Amino acid sequence: MRLLALLVLLLCSCSHGAENLYQRSFYSMGSTVELKLYSPSEELFHRVVDACVERTKEIDRLFSNYRDDSVLAEVNRNSGVRPVSVPREFLHLVRTSIRYSELTDGAFDITIGSLFELWRGETASGRLPEESRIRDALGCTGFRKIKIDEAKSQVFLEGDCVRLDFGAIGKGYAVDEMVKIAKRNGITRGLVNFGGNIYAMDPPAGKKLWDVGVRKPGSGNEIISKIDLVNKGVATSGDYERYFEHGGKRYSHIIDPRTGWPAEDVTSVVVVSRSATEADVFSTAVSVFGLRGARMFAQRDKSLGFLVIEKNGEKKSCFGSYVCR
Ligand code: AMP
Ligand code: MG
Repeated sequence: MRLLALLVLLLCSCSHGAENLYQRSFYSMGSTVELKLYSPSEELFHRVVDACVERTKEIDRLFSNYRDDSVLAEVNRNSGVRPVSVPREFLHLVRTSIRYSELTDGAFDITIGSLFELWRGETASGRLPEESRIRDALGCTGFRKIKIDEAKSQVFLEGDCVRLDFGAIGKGYAVDEMVKIAKRNGITRGLVNFGGNIYAMDPPAGKKLWDVGVRKPGSGNEIISKIDLVNKGVATSGDYERYFEHGGKRYSHIIDPRTGWPAEDVTSVVVVSRSATEADVFSTAVSVFGLRGARMFAQRDKSLGFLVIEKNGEKKSCFGSYVCR
């Protein structure tokens, strides 16, 4: 169950001149996609959602680590073997991910795959990974092991054990792609939510902003903070919807690439950013670096905003563009 959630407080279902609010959900990549869009017609809305369904299937065929026939699986299989020719879109997200690794001082790192598989496999078998195996997997981690050949559109992983994993960016990326589809079809008002990775487009007609409430972790519907949003990405993290369990203890599915151990620092974080992709990346990065990370990233990039919630919602701290209220 998701402990931290965003509640949209303002969602007018009344019709606004030529537009009505339509909603539809579908399942993709292990999560639910929820589209709430203001459209001039129901027919257009469903056409847009159908295109979004197809787009998420394409993204899954490129980046899924749960299927053997994805481009990602092919790249991972050839780690240390040979460069793999990949579609431009794959190359683009690898390049984007490397840039975010640099911007987050390595807290976000798509070469986390080997460590993630180790933790998933061992805890599923009722064990914690041995330190020697964590050290080995750390040797298979590090975004500088990714080599890109732009001209040939190829990716090569240096070392035979590097495994890429787009789990911390893929959903945010998919949200931004769905927003593009909506806009291309003339729909500018609405919300796209993919498992807690959200993009808030223009607000309903007559409103200046989306009014979004942040629910207290573990509580019913108690709102502990409010955010005004327009044309922003939002992500929540640290609400361990997915986690490893051992000896009655829960371990985050976010791994610290410096130590090879699951992140422990921050209870929950809400990130507001330019895009859903960026919010997704920074929610993972702040889960790794904790409060210090939120402060540091907000200082470096004034457009980023963070709400960090500690002690089950008893303590909240805001950084950067996030106005605490
Ligand atoms: P998120 O829920 O966006 O924080 O993404 C977490 C997922 O990203 C995990 O399930 C892993 O697949 C992957 N992951 C874990 N730790 C990291 C990390 N430090 N950097 C990048 N991806 C990670
Ligand atoms: Mg993320």
